[in-house]
Amino acid sequence: MAQIQIKPERLLSFITEMANIGGTPNGGCNRQALTEEDRIGRTLFLNWCSEIGGVARLDSMGNIFVHFKGTDTTKLPVLMGSHLDTQPSGGKFDGVYGVLAALEVMSSLHDQNITLTHPVEIVVWSNEEGSRFSPAMSGSGVFAGKLSQSTLYQSVDDQGVSYQQALITTEQLGEFPCQSFPFAAALELHIEQGPILEAEQKSIGIVTGVQGMNWYQVTISGETTHAGPTPMSMRKDPVQGLHAMLPSLYAKVAEYGEQARITIGKITTIPSSPNTVPEQVIFTLDLRHPEQSILDKMSEELLSLCQQVPSILGSQVDVLWQSPAVVFDARCIDVVTQAAEQLSLTAMPIVSGAGHDSVYLSTVGPTGMIFVPCKDGISHNEKEHVEPEHLIAGGNVLLHSLMQLAQ
Ligand SMILES: [Zn+2]
Repeated sequence: MAQIQIKPERLLSFITEMANIGGTPNGGCNRQALTEEDRIGRTLFLNWCSEIGGVARLDSMGNIFVHFKGTDTTKLPVLMGSHLDTQPSGGKFDGVYGVLAALEVMSSLHDQNITLTHPVEIVVWSNEEGSRFSPAMSGSGVFAGKLSQSTLYQSVDDQGVSYQQALITTEQLGEFPCQSFPFAAALELHIEQGPILEAEQKSIGIVTGVQGMNWYQVTISGETTHAGPTPMSMRKDPVQGLHAMLPSLYAKVAEYGEQARITIGKITTIPSSPNTVPEQVIFTLDLRHPEQSILDKMSEELLSLCQQVPSILGSQVDVLWQSPAVVFDARCIDVVTQAAEQLSLTAMPIVSGAGHDSVYLSTVGPTGMIFVPCKDGISHNEKEHVEPEHLIAGGNVLLHSLMQLAQ
């Protein structure tokens, strides 16, 4: 029997039509969470879903669930989805691809009159990007009970509009309470947002988990003095403290091998004046590793290095944010592996370096992810690009993974 496949032209046209809503001059997208553009994009998506028999419901965070009946009403639903919101100068694919590929999968099953045993729900998670309302991954975070709805309702954008007001204005405030319910499995298809698959010339990334992340802020304190009259030997210069510390931080992380990551993305001096030895230097430390126990040990060692400053200086470490490492469901990983094999696609296991709705989802039910390569690993950028062949390959892996999970 010939393998069922998605319809490539239709998937590509879904993506192109959605990208026109909030399209930017440089070919990207600005369709931020719960804006008028987001409302229009969601409405377009819902029209497409209703044409193939999907029945939508909206929850109190603005998450959309589009239900497709299965043949056995006693079975739990299989979820597929991602997010439709973008960064202010984002691309056409981040998140959007996962939602529209899920739509294409259901459209292809509809073409063939195939009803799976389990019901299927396409999910659109609200405010994944976090660029308008903080924190990111709000919809899935509240769903999983990891974020508070009342706190998020009060989160305001740069114009002072609250999440709750935006839900009401854009008619996205649903009557169903946002809370998790039992599901058989959940799949999220997403662009990699990194350079690995492209470099390895693979079409499919079988995502085994998500890196754990620890964010810290380190403050080294000294004393402000004039840049001219004070001899170097008599200064209490926190930047010299940082200078001495940096090699040991990078060397320590290197000891943990290729999978360990350290990023010092923000360095501030106080007061920031060219002719004043600063009183303080404050920097952020973003540490990542796919294995939680290793991340914990590495973080502990690094923080202890951050405390080791000469006695004339002071040092303080504050925790900014922590996101534990995620290991995805073994059956989901297996099903994605088999689907790629059956379709004769090049595939490799990969760990996600970015956060996704699936991180929260994996805390309440069996969850897995599929990656496709994006050009030069670029995302959150108008230049974000994915080759059509990879978009199609990912769609077909999603289709066959779903058929395994929902049959
Ligand atoms: Zn995304």
